Amino acid sequence: MPERGLLLVVSGPSGAGKGTVIEELFRRRAGLFYSISATTRAPRPGEVDGEQYYFLSKEEFEQEIAQDNMLEYARYCENYYGSPRGPVEDKRAQGLDVILEIEVQGAMKVRHNCADATLVFIMPPSIEELAKRLRGRGTESEDVVRRRLETSKAEIQTASAYDYIVLNDEVERAARDVDCIITAEKLRSQRY
Ligand code: 5GP
Repeated sequence: MPERGLLLVVSGPSGAGKGTVIEELFRRRAGLFYSISATTRAPRPGEVDGEQYYFLSKEEFEQEIAQDNMLEYARYCENYYGSPRGPVEDKRAQGLDVILEIEVQGAMKVRHNCADATLVFIMPPSIEELAKRLRGRGTESEDVVRRRLETSKAEIQTASAYDYIVLNDEVERAARDVDCIITAEKLRSQRY
């Protein structure tokens, strides 16, 4: 039986660069599994069901919640987002380290429900930089960008509740930091 894999929560404000840090992490490290979330938000151009997200209707999502199929979920900017429980459990049992890329409310639920999870907060260098990145994506209206920025300011206040804070002023360095955290956590729990 392989050792159970880690559950690593990578969280932080929208625009902090969680996704790019995780991409770089996958280039550096084997044995990781990225948990594909479910959401009720509409797909952005180029997004494919089952790749970036499982795109569900509100009713479908609520049914998943009722059947206790979500390890965690949250309402974020008027949509549901959640991590399907099954794949996370299966992959950890196979010895893979599972990464959840989620917002702050969901991370706090994992903190509460999964005692052995490791929580990493990806900190943007500044609010100005965050605003620049969110606008630079060009995928959201100005109204949505403003709402996301307000949410981000509140999210940054929760950083001290995490096990680690990683500054994302440079992607390679941030990914290396997360890589070191995984190595250290696996040693702590004798997963080597
Ligand atoms: P976006 O709409 O930009 O793809 O995601 C909005 C926010 O929801 C991001 O901060 C993203 O990390 C977060 N998110 C994505 N999937 C999940 C999930 O399964 N659960 C929670 N709680 N948040 C998620």
